[in-house]
Amino acid sequence: MSALIHRTHCPACYSEAIHPSLNAIDYTVSKESFSIWHCDTCTLRFTQDVPDMEGIGPYYRSDSYVSHSDTKEGLINKLYHLVRNYTLVQKYKLVRKMTGLFNGRILDIGAGTGAFSNTMKLKGWQVKGLEPDGTARTQALNNHGLELLTPHAIHQLEAGSFDAITLWHVLEHVHDLDGYWNHFKRLLHKDGQLIIAVPNYTSSDARYYGACWAAYDVPRHLYHFSPAAMKDLGKKYGFELKAKLPMWFDSFYVAMLSEQYKRGKPALLSACWQGFLSNLKTLFNQNKCSSVIYVFRKEDTPNSI
Ligand SMILES: [Zn+2]
Repeated sequence: MSALIHRTHCPACYSEAIHPSLNAIDYTVSKESFSIWHCDTCTLRFTQDVPDMEGIGPYYRSDSYVSHSDTKEGLINKLYHLVRNYTLVQKYKLVRKMTGLFNGRILDIGAGTGAFSNTMKLKGWQVKGLEPDGTARTQALNNHGLELLTPHAIHQLEAGSFDAITLWHVLEHVHDLDGYWNHFKRLLHKDGQLIIAVPNYTSSDARYYGACWAAYDVPRHLYHFSPAAMKDLGKKYGFELKAKLPMWFDSFYVAMLSEQYKRGKPALLSACWQGFLSNLKTLFNQNKCSSVIYVFRKEDTPNSI
C-alpha cells in the first residue's frame, strides 16, 4: 500500500521550524499541484505530502521525462543531447581533477542509461552504477554493455572501496536521504570525493520563474536545495564542502522548460535571455547558478578507512 509522506520536521536538519512556501504543478506527468515547504533553520525546501517509494513510480511515466530516456525528438531534447556529450567530458575532467587520479574506482548513483558511467569506463575507471529504473538498466546494457545494479545492491558494496561517488541530479529524488549519506560515508575511501549536482532554488532563474521554475519538478524532486542547506547537510554526516561549481548549460535548459510551463508554448529567445542573465550573475556569485555541483570530502577523523 502506498501512502503520502507528510513531514512535521525538515528532512535534512530535522527542525520543526517549517512552513508552506509555494505551490508548484507537476507539468510533466500528472498536472497535480504540490505544496513546497521551507525550513527556516537550514533553508532546505521540500515537497510536502509526496508519494512514498511505492507510490512515486507512476509520476516517472512520461515520454518527455528526458532523464530516463534517450529520445532525440523535439528541440529541447535535441539540445539536451548535444550539450550532454560536452558535459560528460567536463564531468570526467572534474572527477580526475578532484581525485587527482587517472584511473580509480567510481560509484555513480542514479546512472540512468549509463552515459556518464560509460564515459568513465572508456577512460579506464572501474565503474559501478546504481539505477532503480529497469528500462534504463536495459538500455545501459544494450547501448554500452554496462551492467548497472539496482539501488538495493548498495548494501553489498565494500566499505572504503571508492575514490569517487557521483550523483548527477539524483539526490533530490531519493526517499532515504539519511540512508544515502551514511552510505557515502561508509563507501568512500578516506581521500575519496563526493560529487553531488542538484538544482539551486536560490538561483536567479528560480527567482524569476517562481512556481513555474522547471527544476522544482514536483513530486519527483522531494527536496529543493540551497547552497547553505547542502553545506549543512554534508557537515551533519562528517563531510566538508570543498568546492562549488556552476553548471552553465542547466540555466538554459531549465529556462527553456520553465518558459514552456509559464506560457504553455516554447519561447526560445526569452529562455536564452534568462539563461544568459542567470549565468551572468553566476560569474559574480556562484550561488546564483541554476544548478550547482558540490564537491565534498570526508572530514579528518582518527579512524577513517
Ligand atoms: Zn532544515
